Amino acid sequence: MVKVFIPRERRPGETRVAATPETVRRMAKLGLESLVERGAGEASLFRDADFEAAGARLAADAGEGWKSADVVLKVAPPDLVEGSHEAGRLKHGAVLIGFLAPHRDLEMVRLLATGGVTAFALELLPRVTRAQPMDALSSQASITGYKAVLLAAWRLPKYLPLLMTAAGTIKPARVVVMGAGVAGLQAIATAKRLGAVVEVSDVRQAVKEQVESLGGRFIELPLAESGEGQGGYAREMGEDFLRRQREIVQRHLAAADAVITTALVPGKPAPRLITAEMVRAMRPGSVIVDLAVEQGGNCELSAPDREITENGVLILGPSNLAAAMPHDASLLYARNVFALLQLLLDKEGKLAPDLNDEILAGSLLTHAGAVVHRPTAERLNLQEVPA
Ligand code: NAD
Repeated sequence: MVKVFIPRERRPGETRVAATPETVRRMAKLGLESLVERGAGEASLFRDADFEAAGARLAADAGEGWKSADVVLKVAPPDLVEGSHEAGRLKHGAVLIGFLAPHRDLEMVRLLATGGVTAFALELLPRVTRAQPMDALSSQASITGYKAVLLAAWRLPKYLPLLMTAAGTIKPARVVVMGAGVAGLQAIATAKRLGAVVEVSDVRQAVKEQVESLGGRFIELPLAESGEGQGGYAREMGEDFLRRQREIVQRHLAAADAVITTALVPGKPAPRLITAEMVRAMRPGSVIVDLAVEQGGNCELSAPDREITENGVLILGPSNLAAAMPHDASLLYARNVFALLQLLLDKEGKLAPDLNDEILAGSLLTHAGAVVHRPTAERLNLQEVPA
């Protein structure tokens, strides 16, 4: 019987969990045994008793789970916990599924490889139609976009909607969203539902229609060639283009009350869309929420998990906003993980991953002692070359 372990997340501020009573029940139906560390669902409001009722066994501490499980389900990447690295605790041949952020911790990747772990990194999952149920980047980005608008609304000294009151009219707030991927589109929809006027900048002309269908106004950019790169993502634009984009967007920022930035280019630092000078030209009392802060930020002045005020403009750089809505974030994340786990099983419920399957091949980080993801392997090799 395949044993699946769900540890309590240890990363500071991580409130989510990689399985819920719902997915434990679905795993049991497939003949899998679940072992849940006590308190794993506490921060996301899934009680130990509910996991037990769904068929899980509770583990008082994580040690047994890490070393005996055939599959470990995580949210955040394995980390150093009380002097020992979680990545070194899995048994040889075990499977690990989670956000593994391989670019951030090469030592973790090395430990997974040398420990013979078959690790699937959800951020590497190909964005193909068949992978949609497993697309944890999307389910979590959508929450992030939604929460970013609520955060901005909470901190704004004014209403978002147009209001006609006995004391007169209040004009609607103006929200600028930069980057209309999954997070950006949800931010647009949320800001519109709250009644704001929403303007949007993206380098992918293809999103213009989506933006307009949500009621946003698309800010046209002078694109000499398509901003679309591989796999439907944006490509890296040159500094000349970014300068021109900043000039155009500046006018919109100067009139904005809230700005949500989500612009990313895969494998590259976040494009710099708002300079310190542009912030200083904004209205005092306005709020910037920079969701690209972990990749270096779209705003020159943002910093991870810090609040910065410049000339009366509040700049927020939340690095893990999905964790601010842990119940639904875990519900969706656990379903994504379960969908991927199902793909690893044969009809008898035994682990039999077809590593030629494009979804599994695309998200495979380490396997059989090797780092399989080429860009990560190259970075590790570079690290090993003596200076
Ligand atoms: P992302 O997080 O990589 O980037 C966010 C947005 O930033 C993108 O819209 C990008 O075009 C934009 N951007 C980059 N540089 C910019 C700049 N200089 N100025 C303004 N905006 C800039 O994107 P994502 O949310 O992961 O989505 C990427 C694509 O994948 C989208 O087309 C999305 O619809 C698609 N997608 C497909 C599936 C699927 O079919 N399974 C699932 C999810 C997403």
